[in-house]
Amino acid sequence: MRRVILCSLLLLVVLACKEKDAADPLKDEATEFQGIVYKEYSGQEPTKPEETEVYEPVPPKVIPYGNKGVPSDAIVLFDGSSFDEWMMVNDSAEVSWILNADGSMSVKDKTGDIMTKQHFGDVQLHVEWRSPAEVEREGQNRANSGVFLQGLYEVQVLDNNDNDTYVNGQVAAIYKQHIPLAMASVPSGEWNSYDIIYRAPEFHESGYKTRSGTITVLHNGVLVQDHVEIKGTTPYIGWPKNPPHGKGPIRLQDHGDNSRVSFRNIWVRELQ
Ligand code: MG
Repeated sequence: MRRVILCSLLLLVVLACKEKDAADPLKDEATEFQGIVYKEYSGQEPTKPEETEVYEPVPPKVIPYGNKGVPSDAIVLFDGSSFDEWMMVNDSAEVSWILNADGSMSVKDKTGDIMTKQHFGDVQLHVEWRSPAEVEREGQNRANSGVFLQGLYEVQVLDNNDNDTYVNGQVAAIYKQHIPLAMASVPSGEWNSYDIIYRAPEFHESGYKTRSGTITVLHNGVLVQDHVEIKGTTPYIGWPKNPPHGKGPIRLQDHGDNSRVSFRNIWVRELQ
């Protein structure tokens, strides 16, 4: 009797599994082709186009070139009119950088970095920057600034035109972590753009990092960082560090050496 019950239970389990497979046609299945084993869709091959068409979720509509050319769902962080969205990093005071008449801002040396009042997680960030046409100094001391994601991870801003430096610290480097795939700067004195896709790191509640952040950077439309892993903070001296954190500000660097870097047209889209 006990054997009959066990066999019945086993049969039920087998039938349940078969039912699950039939209802899950996209389940991966190991397949061999010319000696190479790979994963392929399994289940009944669709024979009608409707079987592979989905209608949800519907993507939200975004006007790509909305007000002042900014995507309609973006948060404008700087449009040249004020520093209302920003504050000094050191003491949270009003920004003491220079607001220019042409809709840009310039670093005021030795005043310190600035950061947004709002904090962000995953974002698409657009920043335009310019180094002076009249070049001064060499290496890291020629028009050096930076764009920090969550206040911690620097995408280097530097006038690299005829100005060699260590390549993991050149323009568009993830500072001292990732060499850019290309040097795509326009001539000194012209406006560069950075379009950055940033996915924030994740941390366990006890503090250790469970997933690294990643970053993709287009410099003047040229791919220069391709979904690279952020190893931690980007210090001048020392290894990257991984302090746990939540959302953080966008931060712009005052390198403190007569950099004269300017910024304009900064906006961000929060990503899901
Ligand atoms: Mg820098």
